[in-house]
Amino acid sequence: MRILRRIGLALQRWQAIFYVYFGRRYICGCGHTAKWKTVLTIHGHSGVYAPQSKKPDWCPECWAKAAIKCAWCGNTILPGDAITLYIPTKEDFQIPEHAVVYKREPQVQLVGCLGWDCAMSGADRAGFWVMPGKVQRVMSPMEKLMANGGLEVVVENDLTDPAQAIPIPDEI
Ligand SMILES: [Zn+2]
Ligand SMILES: [Zn+2]
Repeated sequence: MRILRRIGLALQRWQAIFYVYFGRRYICGCGHTAKWKTVLTIHGHSGVYAPQSKKPDWCPECWAKAAIKCAWCGNTILPGDAITLYIPTKEDFQIPEHAVVYKREPQVQLVGCLGWDCAMSGADRAGFWVMPGKVQRVMSPMEKLMANGGLEVVVENDLTDPAQAIPIPDEI
């Protein structure tokens, strides 16, 4: 019985810690305050947002505001998501209203998602959509292969992991 009581007390203590931890408000790098866990609705879909670090650069609202829609399929692209930068091939192509234009010159390039129905292959990953709502170019697996003289096999285990990508500075 005594052991059971002790376990009960320990659980209560954990619950208290849990509450303090997740109920706390914190200040983000953007200057806004936010709760540790926030329910966000992005393009009609809701989910619980919890930042990865204790000192996040952006609050959940700023993060949610930076979400865009894929130029091709309209799916949501969140900050941190891998993207493609395809060039429309049809002569009479009209840029959809929701599309994000990466470049207009010399050719129009639109920000697209890496969804199975959307990207022709993972090798087309051209960058990431990052805060505060812009494209971070990285070498696509194809570019990497060409940079290596096409001699080495490109090993990139996870195309959606920015840590494994080689960043390219802004060309603009
Ligand atoms: Zn903010
Ligand atoms: Zn798409």
